[in-house]
Amino acid sequence: MNTKDAASGHCYCESVTFKIRENTELLLNGYCHCSDCRRANACNLYHYVYLKEEDFEITGGEDLLSWYVKDADTSDSFRRYFCSKCGTRTHNFRIVDIGGKPERLIGTFPSLLGDLEVAKSEAWRPTEHIFTSESILNVNLFNDGLPRHPAMPTRGS
Ligand SMILES: [Zn+2]
Ligand SMILES: [Zn+2]
Repeated sequence: MNTKDAASGHCYCESVTFKIRENTELLLNGYCHCSDCRRANACNLYHYVYLKEEDFEITGGEDLLSWYVKDADTSDSFRRYFCSKCGTRTHNFRIVDIGGKPERLIGTFPSLLGDLEVAKSEAWRPTEHIFTSESILNVNLFNDGLPRHPAMPTRGS
C-alpha cells in the first residue's frame, strides 16, 4: 500500500533523522518474529516496512550512523544501521528479490516515526506475521486476522 503524506522519524537521542517521501509504496509491511530480528532490535517482534531506497532519506546525523553485517559472505546479508550515540536501530539496507527482480530496499521502523497518527494510519498497518515458528510470544494472542507464516513466505511473481 502507498503512503499518502511524507513521514519523518528519528532515533532516541534525535540526532539521526530520516524522511520517507510522500506516495511511497510500502512493499513489505508486517511483523517478523525471527530470532535475528528479536536480538538485533531487542524486542519481541519487529514491525518492518520495506520501501525502495530512493524513497528514504537520512536528513540528519548521517555521520553518527554505524552499521553491522552479520553474515557478509551470504547472499542474504544485509546492513543493520544504528545511531552510534544512543544505539537506536534506524533502518536496514538489503537487496531483496521481489518477483524475480533484485531491488535495493530500506527496511525501517514505524515505531520511529514522529507523528503517531501517521504510524497508526491505514497505509502503515501491517499485513502479515512471518517466522511465527521462532516467536517467543503466544501468536494466538494477536487477534488481528492477519496471515501467519511459520517462516519467510514466497513472494509474488
Ligand atoms: Zn541517536
Ligand atoms: Zn526477522
